[in-house]
Amino acid sequence: MTFIFSIFVFILGLIIGSFLNCLIWRLYKNESVGGRSYCPHCHKTIAWYDNIPVLSFMILGGRCRYCHEAISYQYPLVEIATAILFLLTWQIEVFNPNFTWLLAHDWLIIVTLMIIFVYDLRWQMIPMNVLWPMTALIFIINIFLGYSWFLLLEFGAIAVIFFLAQYLITKKRGLGEGDIWLGLFLGIAFPSAAELILILLLSYGVGAIIGLILMAGHKKEWRSKIALGPFLAFGAIITLIWAGTIINWYLMNIVKSF
Ligand SMILES: [Zn+2]
Repeated sequence: MTFIFSIFVFILGLIIGSFLNCLIWRLYKNESVGGRSYCPHCHKTIAWYDNIPVLSFMILGGRCRYCHEAISYQYPLVEIATAILFLLTWQIEVFNPNFTWLLAHDWLIIVTLMIIFVYDLRWQMIPMNVLWPMTALIFIINIFLGYSWFLLLEFGAIAVIFFLAQYLITKKRGLGEGDIWLGLFLGIAFPSAAELILILLLSYGVGAIIGLILMAGHKKEWRSKIALGPFLAFGAIITLIWAGTIINWYLMNIVKSF
């Protein structure tokens, strides 16, 4: 039974991932979310059998059926990543008595950060018309999970002050205005000092490593283009799923050795 549920959750993740791809593109183009999908090159409507997550991409060899223009790898990657993350969080939360709200919490965070990751990576901008409603929703869900509204606002404020200070100190070069509000989302979504510190360590750490690799490859034009948002989204997703494991490992191995 668990196996059948796992397959169902995975397929649901693929479908949501497919919807996220569509949403990201329409946000960028400022189009309505309704209406049939179309090829961004030849503008031909995509038939339902060419719009099946991952499978259609493989069958078509990653190219449009009509104009044979390459389809971005973003499409199957976002679909597979969303499916895996949905499945992992479902397995983590399934035996918890607060299952429904915890799953709503996890999936809302995954969906929001997936959109921000792709959008900010491609266009160096955080879509605020997604971030604002998602911040309000995660606030409400965390209230239902038993957090006090004061605690949530407190962590939100701390995160905002942290990013605002960095924004002012680096004179707006280190990060954008959107990152400050992404901080508000993260503070409310992860109202825990340990988890917020872990998010910062992971995102700044991975950011520094990627920056060094790009510098070594003399790809400075790339380095200057990479925004902070995708790293924060990455660090937060890892924290969402593995914070318990990482923090336990730290306490067992690092703190104990002192
Ligand atoms: Zn086409």
